[in-house]
Amino acid sequence: MTDHSSRIFKSTGRVTGETPFPGGRPAIAPVPGELAGRRRRMLEIDLAGRDISDPAVLAALAAVPRHEFVPPPLRVHAYDDAPLPLGRGQTISQPYLVAFMTQALRLSPGMRVLEIGTGSGYQTAVLAEMGMEVFSVERHEELSLAAEAVIDRLGYGGRVTLRVGDGTLGWPEEAPFDRVLAAAAGPRIPAALAGELGEGGLLLMPVGGFREVQSLELAEKRGGVLTAARLLEVSFVPLIGRDGF
Ligand code: SAH
Repeated sequence: MTDHSSRIFKSTGRVTGETPFPGGRPAIAPVPGELAGRRRRMLEIDLAGRDISDPAVLAALAAVPRHEFVPPPLRVHAYDDAPLPLGRGQTISQPYLVAFMTQALRLSPGMRVLEIGTGSGYQTAVLAEMGMEVFSVERHEELSLAAEAVIDRLGYGGRVTLRVGDGTLGWPEEAPFDRVLAAAAGPRIPAALAGELGEGGLLLMPVGGFREVQSLELAEKRGGVLTAARLLEVSFVPLIGRDGF
């Protein structure tokens, strides 16, 4: 069992929020030749060919090397529009879903985003590529450490702070957040996450039981009250935590 105590480690680099990439633009690893065609197909057919139209989202999905976040034997499938196993029974979400969620969050550079379920760190890197200041919580320490290594190697560390712990409890020291994104499904939106969302903020989370059809809900906070809309039927791994989760 992982120790869920709130050990915080900060990726290398200073979090300034002043420029999109403190210390220079990330060194994006070039896509190996055999993956270039697959990545082009992902961008043109699986994303732009469907309803991903936000140029900033498409640019981020084009820039972040997904193959760096998947286990080496599966790299050839990194640009397939499919979820892939990560280890510890967890999965890296399919590219379409990452793009859909990122687009639904209606992001602007410099926003503070709380992510629950770092997993591989791929979604985290997409958010950082778009200029967000990302706070990401993961319950499995080894996944968080592996994600940190890739995020740092790709140059996104200055915009990302990772924490090992139970994300259903939020991150009170860094609240409020402009956006909250949960990448694991629960029966309802955890009270801590609703509370840490700033006024006018958006929260995105799959709501429903494990192995049931879940709905991806987008909630907006106005006058301190959350109003949620269902966007899509989805299937996510469970959010595991205290307080009924
Ligand atoms: N966005 C990730 C996908 C993560 S899958 C990616 O791009 O790779 C969901 C993750 O949520 C898993 O890694 C799982 O361990 C984590 N998780 C589940 N319950 C959690 C909780 N209560 N707090 C933090 N992380 C949690």
